[in-house]
Amino acid sequence: MNFDYENPSRQDALSILDLPDEELPELLEKVYAIRKKHKGNMVNIHLLTSARSGDCSQNCAYCAQSHDSKADIDKYRLISYDKLLQDGYAVSEKNLARHCIGLSGIRFSDLEINELSSEIKKLRDKTQTPICCSIGFLTPEQALKLKDAGVGRINHNLNTSRNHYPNICTTHTYQQRIANIKMLQGVGFEICCGGIVGLGESKADVADMLLEIRAINPQAVPINFLLPIEGTALSNADISRLTPEYCLKVLCLARLMTPKADIRCAAGREVYLKGKEKWMFYAADSIFASGYLTAEGQSIDDTIKMVTEAGFQYCVESA
Ligand code: SF4
Repeated sequence: MNFDYENPSRQDALSILDLPDEELPELLEKVYAIRKKHKGNMVNIHLLTSARSGDCSQNCAYCAQSHDSKADIDKYRLISYDKLLQDGYAVSEKNLARHCIGLSGIRFSDLEINELSSEIKKLRDKTQTPICCSIGFLTPEQALKLKDAGVGRINHNLNTSRNHYPNICTTHTYQQRIANIKMLQGVGFEICCGGIVGLGESKADVADMLLEIRAINPQAVPINFLLPIEGTALSNADISRLTPEYCLKVLCLARLMTPKADIRCAAGREVYLKGKEKWMFYAADSIFASGYLTAEGQSIDDTIKMVTEAGFQYCVESA
């Protein structure tokens, strides 16, 4: 295994994804040393609130909230402040690291951003947990409004490679996503930027996506493994490649590409990495508890227990 672990090239990335499974333990040991150097043995646990659900104008093929999706999901415009606060209290009572607030949709009116900002401001007055938003494309003025309300980090994923992107979405472009991220960085946000594995992409697409993410230099990199949802265009996606070994290689590559970032093993961990959590944490230092926008997940208490049993400590970030 002769890779440049400090600064992997595209060829190194492809070799890591193609590594024979027998050589995975050796890779995991090397990656663990890098994870330990930057993150110790800590695991950040995040809670995700779905603050607006469904009725999106876009056609992202994996998404239950897309315009083209027939998935049977709850749809609502903006979650009640009480529910947002309830999740905020759960995050602080359980000492979780971050409260992520996800909204369906790609564009928001100033009125909607004002409403959301005022709810977040009230939430920040009650809980001290760092808040992230996952929220489509913003104008610089809208971004500043959220920043003033106390949002410190914004999630905007690239999802896959530039080359594969037109196969999963045709209503906006990869370049628009990158431009939005650059604008957010200019406004002073931390960036959470990752992707989804299992969208029918090649290994080269995974490598290329992670190279694009490395160039962005985000503070957090969520890696999702596709959970095909009935009613979406990818409901019958071929997920046979998503073996635990392959998922671990992707997480290892994410750590090597962005060694200082939070590497979050997000959707799919409960399915594809069940029983392999210790190895997952050799690369990843962050996870969600209590599910994803439209998919169920492990409860907060079970997640905390799992982290401890895998030999890691879960930690609290300060705002
Ligand atoms: S991923 Fe976001 S932009 Fe794409 S369809 Fe779903 S909610 Fe809309």
